[in-house]
Amino acid sequence: METVAPFKEVIDEIKEAGGDAFKFCFQCGLCDTVCPWNRVRQFSIRKIIREATFGLTEIEGEDIWRCTTCGRCPQRCPRGVKQIEVGVSLRRVASEYEIFPASVRSARTARASLISEGNPLQGERKKRSEWATDLAVKPYAEGMEALYFVGCYLSYDPRMKKVAVATAKILKKAGVEFGILGDKENCCGESIRKTGSEKVFKQLAKDNIKTFIDSGVKKIIVSSPHCYHTFKNEYPEFMVNFEVVHINQFLLDLIDSGRLELTGEFPKQVTYHDPCYLGRHNDIYEEPRDLLRKVPGLELIEMADSRKDSLCCGGGGGRIWMDTPLEERFSDLRLIQANEIGAQVLATSCPYCITNFEESRLNLEYEEVLEIKDITEIINDML
Ligand code: SF4
Ligand code: SF4
Repeated sequence: METVAPFKEVIDEIKEAGGDAFKFCFQCGLCDTVCPWNRVRQFSIRKIIREATFGLTEIEGEDIWRCTTCGRCPQRCPRGVKQIEVGVSLRRVASEYEIFPASVRSARTARASLISEGNPLQGERKKRSEWATDLAVKPYAEGMEALYFVGCYLSYDPRMKKVAVATAKILKKAGVEFGILGDKENCCGESIRKTGSEKVFKQLAKDNIKTFIDSGVKKIIVSSPHCYHTFKNEYPEFMVNFEVVHINQFLLDLIDSGRLELTGEFPKQVTYHDPCYLGRHNDIYEEPRDLLRKVPGLELIEMADSRKDSLCCGGGGGRIWMDTPLEERFSDLRLIQANEIGAQVLATSCPYCITNFEESRLNLEYEEVLEIKDITEIINDML
């Protein structure tokens, strides 16, 4: 196949993205041994790094779009090669040339929706806070304890709206003075950046930062690990720093400080899936587990590939918007792992994981076998 991107441009883009780290690759192949793709099909990030070193990347192909940015291979690389940054820079070149294979075209729809409505789900901006209609959630005002940044999936996706409702109910029950931004909230921009649309990311980030500053926001509670990651690790590129807390951390504090009491019982075997952007990318492994252990009657059991070795759900890096054939879904493997240890509930804390797991639950006909829950849904049932 013809290589469209010129030699120099690919190399320059990569250098800009991750410096010269890719040159340290000595082709040991350790990255490929941990990459989840190799559980479902052949894929080599090692080969992509090699080809990129010489500017010989096949920009038209599917392979540069596969990486879910799960963070497994950077963790194992003995040479500190920044595989994720290299991959994203190749997507930037492809995006610049408007070269997208068929499976990636749906990500273009998400991009258009982000530009026009501030979310990837083609939801109308004015309907962003419709989920909260019956809950009397206040608009954020300066001086409140925290801003609850709801995020796109929890604002628009029918399954995920239940998590937003559960979260708001818990915060109210604990007497937290919080507010939301409603139609002033934009997507955090994390995933669109990973698809190579840097300009769209920057615009979303700037709009959010301006709103945070204009509204006097200091502390932000988030439900999505992707919002968490971006606010904490990427927005500081714009010379701002907000206090960012994941809802799991916040709820654990509420319980420990006596502001929230769990009174019900949840007599089920529950296993916890570490989302890549909460665990590997941000080292938050214990708080979700500690929170689950606070639930009366709940038995926490661990499945294979947990904590640092967590098996990606397949939704990061913009893959949540791309087409993945049924037989190549990591989320199916994850549900099978949960079922193998006899878990009745697969709990997690990420809208992409829940979306993928709910789909796998249907694909595998696990409706009677396994429930998928956000941790907040379990906590809300205990109030
Ligand atoms: S693990 Fe690192 S050094 Fe080894 S092949 Fe992969 S990128 Fe190269
Ligand atoms: S970050 Fe994850 S999905 Fe991407 S190449 Fe590395 S191991 Fe594979």
